Amino acid sequence: MPSEIPAQSVIHDLLGRPLGSLRVSVIDRCDLRCRYCMPEEDYDWLPKEGILSFDEIERAVRAFCQFGVRSVRLTGGEPLLRGDLPELVARLAGLPLVEDLAMTTNATQLARQAEELRRAGLQRVTISLDSLKAERFEALTGRDTHAKVLAGIRQAATVGFDAIKLNSVVMRGFNDDELVDLLEFAREVGAEVRFIEYMDVGGATHWSQGEVVSQHEILTRLAAHYGPIERETGQGAAPAARFRLEDGTRFGIVSSVTEPFCGACDRSRLTADGLWYLCLYAQQGIDLKPLLREGADRQALLERIRVGWTGRTDRSAEERAGDPERGALFQVEELQADPHREMHTRGG
Ligand code: SAM
Ligand code: SF4
Ligand code: SF4
Repeated sequence: MPSEIPAQSVIHDLLGRPLGSLRVSVIDRCDLRCRYCMPEEDYDWLPKEGILSFDEIERAVRAFCQFGVRSVRLTGGEPLLRGDLPELVARLAGLPLVEDLAMTTNATQLARQAEELRRAGLQRVTISLDSLKAERFEALTGRDTHAKVLAGIRQAATVGFDAIKLNSVVMRGFNDDELVDLLEFAREVGAEVRFIEYMDVGGATHWSQGEVVSQHEILTRLAAHYGPIERETGQGAAPAARFRLEDGTRFGIVSSVTEPFCGACDRSRLTADGLWYLCLYAQQGIDLKPLLREGADRQALLERIRVGWTGRTDRSAEERAGDPERGALFQVEELQADPHREMHTRGG
């Protein structure tokens, strides 16, 4: 390996997929308990002393950028619970190779942080919102913070982000009667909704195929209300397929369960304590933390990333799609045995 790696050396995995985007979980804690993600009331959190500092996160992002990452998404847990987040945003926004800096949040704390985050250089936000009904939201999340989330969305819409998306996980019998309402709400606040198929990941221990509302069904239902829907081309490596109503309104669908898109997946995930996952479903992570500590060997960090990505063969969503016996990926005991299996630790 050369001692100086040129900034543009994009690497590819064994299936020819480039390393393009990185999701960085900045904290594993969350103030909500969404039943498809954190159905238990109590959790064991990652030890505080293991959580990466901003210096370490910045070091990691710089290294990933050397190999082609241009798109960075901050996530959690709930990223807004991480202290001084605007400082981290400013550091990452200042990295010359980071072209796209986004965050996924539940927005409970967004109303008071949106402006500062935007000023610090955050370009885009994706906000999770599964219901417009306060009681339903409480039943889903275990918390009565619906009004705060709506206030967060409305505030975000005023501070000039390049784009706001709303993520709605669609669950049969729970919120699948709100497709039109969510789309209309998104349009009203100047956002774009992305319907997400309910996935059998991490804390979704109660997952069943019957609760998944497929992309096909979502489109059929929306077409019954709005008329013809056109699929846009050029999805590239983005997880959401994009669609357009006749009046030009756009929305997305993330069809990870029924029409997985592993073939174009350029994403990997870094947990708040420095484990690097090559796939959302991966059983094992690669521990980068020792190589991110101050004074650690930078070449060794780069080499671990290079070896990790160039050996990647993960395509779990596609493999699982063919399994007629498909059930939840993990049971609660398995999650308790290793919290890195949780979606709120991997970052979604
Ligand atoms: N707490 C933040 C939030 O909710 O936006 C960021 C982390 S959360 C793990 C990231 C995304 O994962 C959210 O949009 C959430 O809806 C999604 N997610 C979590 N569990 C899921 C599941 N079982 N199926 C589909 N999406 C899920
Ligand atoms: Fe819900 Fe996000 Fe928290 Fe999971 S991490 S419980 S999806 S708010
Ligand atoms: Fe990427 Fe893994 Fe999801 Fe497939 S299952 S899209 S490889 S993260």
